[in-house]
Amino acid sequence: MKERLEMIRKEIEESAIKSGRKVEDITLIAVSKTYPLASIQEAITLGCKDFGENHVQELVQKMDELNESVHWHLIGHLQTNKVKYIIGRTTLIHSVDRLKLAEEIEKQSAKKGYITDILIEVNVAKEASKHGFLVEEVIPIMVELAKMKHIRVRGLMTVAPFVANPEENRPIFRKLYDLSVDIQKQKFDNISSDILSMGMSNDYKIAIEEGATMVRIGTAIFGNRDYTK
Ligand SMILES: *Cc1c(COP(=O)(O)O)cnc(C)c1O
Repeated sequence: MKERLEMIRKEIEESAIKSGRKVEDITLIAVSKTYPLASIQEAITLGCKDFGENHVQELVQKMDELNESVHWHLIGHLQTNKVKYIIGRTTLIHSVDRLKLAEEIEKQSAKKGYITDILIEVNVAKEASKHGFLVEEVIPIMVELAKMKHIRVRGLMTVAPFVANPEENRPIFRKLYDLSVDIQKQKFDNISSDILSMGMSNDYKIAIEEGATMVRIGTAIFGNRDYTK
């Protein structure tokens, strides 16, 4: 894992420089879903501070078992009835993909006295299998989100298609970046769009070149996932 992380950090730095930024401007989120606690602990000793999970049950279990303060990111589809289990415990919820979910996060956050940081998930490629708002829905939805006082929109997230050649995803990343610039121009209350969560093991270099500030990397750090367990 040490060599893999060193290689990834080097690539992140090179891509950041290509896009006129510094390595500190990019947050590496180690996507630990399906991997055991021991893998997370190893990653922590190698300097990882941010971890991503896509299921609430697995996330909460790992939070409870791990005796370390790390930043937890919820990156997968979130059911409204599970929101209450994670409010106050996540650094960032990346996958807000419908208004009803935002309303539930607002409600539970108000109840517990938190302000929850979220990203809006955008289905840039319009894939039927993927969650998220369509690009043209995002600005109108911001008008609604700006009224919610217990959530703070920090930016946008997308899951790009799985492609053999990551260059194919460059236009997708560019579109999300352009959308974030449009949102910044509108100056909505409670809404910023300085976080762009895009890029995974296969395509993070391209995503950073196009403006990603957070990359979500699983297999390139931890190896192939075992879904049989
Ligand atoms: C699993 C997952 C990742 C990480 O994917 P890898 O290809 O293993 O890097 C990133 N983002 C989301 C939303 C995921 O579910």
